[in-house]
Amino acid sequence: MKKNNYSDICSEVDIDETESYVPMAPDIVQTTSFHFSNYEEFIEYSSDEKNHFVYTRGSNPTIKSLEEKLARLEHGEKCKVFSSGMGAISATLFTLLKAGDHVLMVNTIYGEAVAFAKYLNKYGVNCNRVDVKSTDDIANYIKPETKMIYFESPSSQKFEMIDLEKVSTLAKERNIYTVIDATWASPIFQNPLDYGIDVVIHSLSKYLGGHSDSVGGAIIGSAKIVDDIFENGHQSLGSVISPFNAWLTIRGLRTLPVRMNQFDKSIRFVLDNIKDDKRIEKIYHPYLYEGEQKKIADKYLSGYGSLFGIDFKDKNFDKLKIFVNSLKIVSIGVSWGGFESLALPSFKGNNQSQLEERGLPISHVRMYVGLEDPNSIVEDIKQAMDKAYGD
Ligand code: PLP
Repeated sequence: MKKNNYSDICSEVDIDETESYVPMAPDIVQTTSFHFSNYEEFIEYSSDEKNHFVYTRGSNPTIKSLEEKLARLEHGEKCKVFSSGMGAISATLFTLLKAGDHVLMVNTIYGEAVAFAKYLNKYGVNCNRVDVKSTDDIANYIKPETKMIYFESPSSQKFEMIDLEKVSTLAKERNIYTVIDATWASPIFQNPLDYGIDVVIHSLSKYLGGHSDSVGGAIIGSAKIVDDIFENGHQSLGSVISPFNAWLTIRGLRTLPVRMNQFDKSIRFVLDNIKDDKRIEKIYHPYLYEGEQKKIADKYLSGYGSLFGIDFKDKNFDKLKIFVNSLKIVSIGVSWGGFESLALPSFKGNNQSQLEERGLPISHVRMYVGLEDPNSIVEDIKQAMDKAYGD
């Protein structure tokens, strides 16, 4: 019999062990910390937080459930989840690199990741970013102190592919970590660990969460590497996902294969319908590649992500502004991977030299095909091109 005392009523946690029901959706364990049945258990658990629930800044059953799913999806031994993709990236670099090491960043990489690697210079870590025409060229940039090769495949902005087997072989021969940010393809379309890559990173804020309503990140790899990143980068930098965001991501995963299948269909349809348009100079997306890049895409991707880039022939930035401002279904916004189609000019008013360094004109726009009717997306892009560039 419960005591009818306001203080008790307010403070009780109702766990009814006699009720037997099985909810259709998974539980959220929204707690900061966990009870111990005695002092000995507290000592045992708190000395090994990665394997016990002590405090949600370390681990939590909802977060663990997400980690186990992601490890299985990526064919990895273990996964650790973070509060953002950048949380996962910074914890990985922070843990695996030390003063005197060199990190080689290859091709166009998410800008904040490059900025973080360059910031580590303050702690004696040296970073350089290079563009390569072929994976073999990476060897030319390796130094005796190179400890990590960090890349995306396809890369951000230019969507270039790297041959995963080749890069992992050349790195292993030299005792260098390979780290890939594989957000673009999701685990449904590419599994880099199968080809010897050491660490796979995902921003869960994109396809995996999938609904533009939660931010998160993950690393997947061997238990040894993931435990090291847990003990150091995760525990000390504190980039902890909330149980609620982990739960939202678990909900997102339930439809991930269905959504990825639709993205693959929609992107092919959209690209087929705009690729020969006379106003477009170039489209950056592996579906349209030829030669070596196509061979690599065919070998490693079992489907296509729907993020791509367009260079218009007319380089006038005011016309690109008219293009994006005329879009009706496609909206202007950062991030990607949710329901909504998006457009984002790469020129931000003061970064022309950075774009030129990457070989991109100011008429470059990043586009994301969402889950709207692909016919409507094509019509929208065409009517906006008519307004900006004439028909
Ligand atoms: N990796 C890629 C390819 C991205 O586009 C982003 C974008 O935000 C990130 C990593 C960073 O992830 P988050 O925003 O979850 O920190």
